Amino acid sequence: METTHNNIIDLSYTQLKELVSSLGEPAYRADQLLWWIYGKLATSFEEMTDLPQSLRQKLAEAASLSGLTSVDEKISADEQTRKVLFRLDDGRTIESSLMLYAATGSSRERRTVCVSTQVGCTMGCSFCATGQQGFERNLSPGEIIGQILYFMRLVGAEQKNNEEQAPARRPVTNVVFMGMGEPLANYEKVWQAVVTLNSKHGLGLGARQITISTVGLVPQIRRLAGESIHVELAISLHAANDALRNKLVPVNKKYPLSHLIPACRDYFKKTGRRPTFEYVLFQGVNDSVNQAHELAHLLERMNCQVNLIAGNPTACKEFTPSPMKMVLAFQKILSDSGISSTIRVSKGVDIEAGCGQLRSRWIANSSTP
Ligand code: SAH
Ligand code: SF4
Repeated sequence: METTHNNIIDLSYTQLKELVSSLGEPAYRADQLLWWIYGKLATSFEEMTDLPQSLRQKLAEAASLSGLTSVDEKISADEQTRKVLFRLDDGRTIESSLMLYAATGSSRERRTVCVSTQVGCTMGCSFCATGQQGFERNLSPGEIIGQILYFMRLVGAEQKNNEEQAPARRPVTNVVFMGMGEPLANYEKVWQAVVTLNSKHGLGLGARQITISTVGLVPQIRRLAGESIHVELAISLHAANDALRNKLVPVNKKYPLSHLIPACRDYFKKTGRRPTFEYVLFQGVNDSVNQAHELAHLLERMNCQVNLIAGNPTACKEFTPSPMKMVLAFQKILSDSGISSTIRVSKGVDIEAGCGQLRSRWIANSSTP
């Protein structure tokens, strides 16, 4: 293995053990290193005081532990959503957010990080700010995990300050792949990040705490179903017939509903995870009573959940959010047909927390991407 400057977070567990042994150290040092990175949230090798000084020095020469650089941050008025724009090593930018959810009767308190997987996106969905930015490149596993580490350090530091009031808790409880980009179009890198998130040597997050959202790439959904970690799957559906979905989500022409829906049914059969269908409602586009019946018919007798979301306002006049009255009427039709759904309030609308929106404004206001 070459020992030129690796971002240590980019390495898989096996690669890390190889690096450690190429530096003349026993493999268990890799576990110690990971404990410092994910357990103690170390930002430098120097902090890793139970590693021999000589190893710390060799690591600093061979690899870096650099975090992502935040260039813009926004906190929503209710302080429950924090959106961060990061600059990557090559100057490109991506955005991520942290969303806080208080405990309710049925669920525990959550601190969810929404990560990006690509700079831009090739899929070109018409209502999506990222889709309209075009595609630049895939993110590496280290760049994906780096987004989560940033928020873990932030929350971890806040928890430390409040230690008297509350015992230390896991700084990030859930990760959703719902930021910029199509995760399943960057499969290998995303999967390596998932393995690290799930591993006891990494963040130790349960598979149920990890959600991959996809526009509906059928072969990759089938591949995901065969993996050993059964993550939660969300499908950005947005339309229940091919004619409309072809317009909103152009990749539907390649993977029409007649292929997508069976792949989702099979995902449940193989993994036991109920897929969630995301349906963003835009006024006069996909929010009519007939369209609700059509959706109910499409998902008939399927073990699934629907998330109804009143769309975020976009630069495009064609897509304005559905009024709550329409969202409620839509939901009523689904529930009358026995389909379970929740209405999701888009968090952080006041800080452009929709997919790619903060970056869109940044690009518009600056000359570098
Ligand atoms: N590419 C994947 C992951 C990104 S998730 C996917 O599409 O599923 C981003 C989510 O935000 C998707 O469900 C997408 O449909 C949704 N989204 C994009 N633009 C939006 C807008 N203007 N209002 C509300 N949701 C939007
Ligand atoms: Fe890409 Fe998802 Fe946006 Fe479509 S909705 S352009 S797949 S990020």
